[in-house]
Amino acid sequence: MTTAALAVFLSACTTEIPIIAIQMADDDGSNPSSIEESEIREWLEVANDHWDAQDLEFTFSDNDLIQIKSTRLNTKPQDANDPQWELYRLTANYLVTLTPANKIPVIFRARGNTSWSGIPGHTNYISMPAYKNACIGKQNKNKECEPDESLLSHALGHYFGLGHTFGSAGCSAANQENTDGDSTTMTMNSLAPVTDTSSDPGIGCLSEEQIESQDRTVTLTSGERFRPPWRNLMSGYPTTRNRLSDDQSEIVEEVLITQAWRKRLHED
Ligand SMILES: [Zn+2]
Repeated sequence: MTTAALAVFLSACTTEIPIIAIQMADDDGSNPSSIEESEIREWLEVANDHWDAQDLEFTFSDNDLIQIKSTRLNTKPQDANDPQWELYRLTANYLVTLTPANKIPVIFRARGNTSWSGIPGHTNYISMPAYKNACIGKQNKNKECEPDESLLSHALGHYFGLGHTFGSAGCSAANQENTDGDSTTMTMNSLAPVTDTSSDPGIGCLSEEQIESQDRTVTLTSGERFRPPWRNLMSGYPTTRNRLSDDQSEIVEEVLITQAWRKRLHED
């Protein structure tokens, strides 16, 4: 990219980035993900609302919903130590090499909830659950699923190199300020650290009343009062998260112009 082109890219014009949706089924064609075009569009509409401030628009055409058979890619690995994670990553990264370079590959699974993506170059895809499995809170027989409409938007943050605002530390150990940007997985790579977003003890540390409270200042088990970053897109609050901090925005911009597996989205 020339300097002039770079300047244009960094200025106000909106960059359109298409996604390619990959509907998984098992090796024998059974258990296809139930994902539908309308559900993909609903997720994208919310994402575009959130990412408008970054001058990014994610697009989707009906021709960009393809079907692939792979039991492995159709299944979320069981837990953090499951060796299937690495096999999933390697297989999915290979699949990405076969998809158009200028489209974000979004895999839709039949099995497992939650989404994930990862460090540019290391994880070059987004893996999403079926819409009906993307429930806020636990899905059970008595409670209807309330789909997490921010899930794809949040996963795009991971895809562009952002980590969570919340770490894996216990509730009482959660710190209120992110001192170096990396200790609480604020960024997943060695890019400039995020220092302008408080780390978050995580929604799991809060009671229902705290989550619903209007003042949104909560007491940690350590006794400290704290206001979690409810609205940060990389936080764990699906119903309120919708924006990135300035530092996070800068990381996304940097990733888009410097990281090989993301640059190709907007280069000829
Ligand atoms: Zn996440």
